[in-house]
Amino acid sequence: MWITFRHFMQTYVDDVRYGFRKYAPDMNNFEVRQGVDAQGAFTVQYPDEKLAMPERFRFVPFLVVEDYDHEERPGKDWCTSCGICAKVCPPQCIWIVRSNDPETGRPVPEPEAFFIDIDICMNCGFCAEFCPFDAIKMDHDYELASYDRTTNHIFDKEKLSKEFRYWKTIAPTRAIEEAEARGGWEHKDAQKAARRGGSARTSRTNQDTGRAEKREAVASREAVAEAPASATSAEDEKAKRREAALQRKAARAAKTETAESAPSEAEGQQPWNDSEDEKAKRREAALRRKAARAAKRADDSE
Ligand code: SF4
Ligand code: SF4
Repeated sequence: MWITFRHFMQTYVDDVRYGFRKYAPDMNNFEVRQGVDAQGAFTVQYPDEKLAMPERFRFVPFLVVEDYDHEERPGKDWCTSCGICAKVCPPQCIWIVRSNDPETGRPVPEPEAFFIDIDICMNCGFCAEFCPFDAIKMDHDYELASYDRTTNHIFDKEKLSKEFRYWKTIAPTRAIEEAEARGGWEHKDAQKAARRGGSARTSRTNQDTGRAEKREAVASREAVAEAPASATSAEDEKAKRREAALQRKAARAAKTETAESAPSEAEGQQPWNDSEDEKAKRREAALRRKAARAAKRADDSE
């Protein structure tokens, strides 16, 4: 009661302080009335005046698509139609149709159709929280009223899609946090594709190296097998075989050490304290090991 009364009185105090400037129709005085120093009871003359939305404000979701002027993926959906948002949506107002490759009939990771019934959506934000690809975000556009609620309020993919730069505009801080967590501004798939490009090259290099090592090992076995028949005693032959086996073992150990050098450097450290460089090194080493394993499998199957 006292607070209400105080606000009421402050309204008159403010009127005197600003000399009624804040109500002058020909002045842009909205900031004066809504500024941090403004006091008293006041209202906003909506729809002529609108309050700025805080970054965490959430209204009906929208789908993030790549900027239309993106060099490689203009307008590409960030959504992979994994269906997680539809599963977690409490009132079940999301409907997704997954794309299929017209030639092979195999599923393609992008939605052919995406619908949200905005009359049922309760703006909880679960879909945006759970999406693993940052592909669905809560919007700030709350002016969605219309007379036709039958079709106008079932938003399709076209209506839902907005450029990534729009998200950066309405929620700059969150966009930066998410990009940091993702490892870059690009969509996860684009980052993966870039890494795969690098790993394919690595794989070829490893494949070549692996083949060379295999050839050396075969040559060494053949050399042992073709040991001079003039070997006088069985003991000499055994010693040679032992030496060759030791050489092969040392070569294998050296190879393993090279492949695993990055993790051994990080030994004793807490992985969550690692710098970005160290994480990148570990990722590269893991990719190299994976490529080497793939090359070995390919060689074995030949
Ligand atoms: S918006 Fe996100 S969670 Fe929903 S289907 Fe697309 S990728 Fe999956
Ligand atoms: S905001 Fe909540 S209710 Fe609306 S679509 Fe997302 S999960 Fe469903």
